[in-house]
Amino acid sequence: MTGVPTSYASGVAEVPLLGHTIGEALERAANRWGARPALIARAQDVRWTWRDLRDRADAFAAGLTALGLRRGDRIGIWSLNRAEWALTQFAAARAGLILVTINPAYRLSELEFALNKVGCVALVTATAFKSSDYIGMITALAPELSGATPGRLSAARLPHLRIVIQIGGPQAPGTIAFQDVAQRGGAAEREALRALAGELQFDDAINIQFTSGTTGSPKGVTLTHHNILNNGYFVGRAIGLSEKDRICIPVPLYHCFGMVMGNLAAVTHGAAMVYPGEGFDPLATLETIEAEKCTALYGVPTMFIAELDHPQFERFDLGSLRTGIMAGAPCPIEVMKRVVGRMNMREVTIAYGMTETSPVSFQSAVDDPLERRVSTVGRIQPHLEVKIVDASGRIVPRGEPGELCTRGYSVMLGYWDDEAKTDEVVDARGWMSTGDLATIDAEGYCNIVGRIKDMIIRGGENVYPREIEEYLFRHPKIQDVQVFGVADLKYGEEPCAWVRLHKGETMTEEELRAFCHGQIAHYKVPRYVEFVEEFPMTVTGKVQKFIMRQQVEERLGLKRAETA
Ligand code: AMP
Repeated sequence: MTGVPTSYASGVAEVPLLGHTIGEALERAANRWGARPALIARAQDVRWTWRDLRDRADAFAAGLTALGLRRGDRIGIWSLNRAEWALTQFAAARAGLILVTINPAYRLSELEFALNKVGCVALVTATAFKSSDYIGMITALAPELSGATPGRLSAARLPHLRIVIQIGGPQAPGTIAFQDVAQRGGAAEREALRALAGELQFDDAINIQFTSGTTGSPKGVTLTHHNILNNGYFVGRAIGLSEKDRICIPVPLYHCFGMVMGNLAAVTHGAAMVYPGEGFDPLATLETIEAEKCTALYGVPTMFIAELDHPQFERFDLGSLRTGIMAGAPCPIEVMKRVVGRMNMREVTIAYGMTETSPVSFQSAVDDPLERRVSTVGRIQPHLEVKIVDASGRIVPRGEPGELCTRGYSVMLGYWDDEAKTDEVVDARGWMSTGDLATIDAEGYCNIVGRIKDMIIRGGENVYPREIEEYLFRHPKIQDVQVFGVADLKYGEEPCAWVRLHKGETMTEEELRAFCHGQIAHYKVPRYVEFVEEFPMTVTGKVQKFIMRQQVEERLGLKRAETA
């Protein structure tokens, strides 16, 4: 025994894991908080109590049963944030159907892939939003729809899909209107559902989410009731949620941030889910917080930046806010400080996780010292284990960077119908390799240093983009910054910075380098600096550094040295 502490930590729990299904969680919420608000969808003028939501979910579930859907069948949902989304989520859980959450930004080939990969029998779809014509896209994939008897589709390119349920109108031929589904269920279906409730097991698969697909084709992350209900519960506990809270959820529901950390945290604590609108809009979010007196606000870092920098920010009274979560991408310290100071979110936390782990594994506590709360992703969540390993799989000493691995109730069942890919990331002992580089300090606080793929290796020196970004963020003219490696014949790679300035500011490359000089090591000073208006992003707030890298390398004709 050397006595050197290692980068292994396990989460101490004050309360046990929940041992029930999502359907039962809804029943409990309706029994315990029945008349309290469950769901407020402002753009739709929807206000439902927990009892309303349970009753509507049961009616919808009975309708789905009447349409022939059975336990274990896959039902897709393809829509932005609407009340129907949450209703479908809870109804599917009550009926034991596996909800397949489809990114509303998907287009034809992605939709076709997703529906066929997991064999969706039914699809609940929006009609249209802005330039997205959902019905048009489905009809393009399945022209048979317009001539089909509703519920009996048979389409060559979507061989599993039988039922298309349409949210909103005008109703397209061959579809079933969302509001008509409930009427199809009768006493027999309700009885069948009551019997089913006793059969469903919390370890059953209940949700498939496609990963952002920054690497290869999207994979269907298969999650159980136990995975995501518990994660929602413990994420909610970490920010002290109760039935008195109202969570403003501008993050997309198709992603775990919305549907687990939002909806399932709400159902397990009795808090209200408040949707400011279908797609993210900073102004609608600020208006909603004020009008609905939200106590918690969620967002990826870029959403908080957009809210704080909105020209009308000062107009709003955000005094009701207490807490919230920033997550999904590296959270700049300066932005966290502004969220605490300017948005009144004194108990804001950072969470870290990935879809494959339900998602959250680290989260700060509301009473962690402020400095830790803005500069780390907190400590390991209850009931989970984490280790940081080097390239050979050995646990590294505390404080040293390596790959973060997670084990425990939160690890997915696997990628749907893809054992080989599952085995690449989850080992026989249950550890999920995240692909993220991290350190854990002596007290267990974790820092995410970056994605393994994004680490810059300059002349044999490891450079963590995050460190440079944090430093540049301190410059008062800089609104947002991304650092990534580009090819270099001599050093292998060199750091490049893409900088977005605050409105009306100007800056030169020299000015930025002068700001770094003598403050950070010479090899970390960006060799290339470009001022841009925006970054290529996914809807879930992830900056796509590989696209930025490609663009710069192509434009500047940068090449890697040939290696053996
Ligand atoms: P997804 O599965 O789409 O939720 O993406 C998960 C990835 O997002 C992780 O593997 C991290 O790279 C990144 N991520 C999530 N939360 C954070 C955070 N708080 N800080 C840094 N990176 C994060």
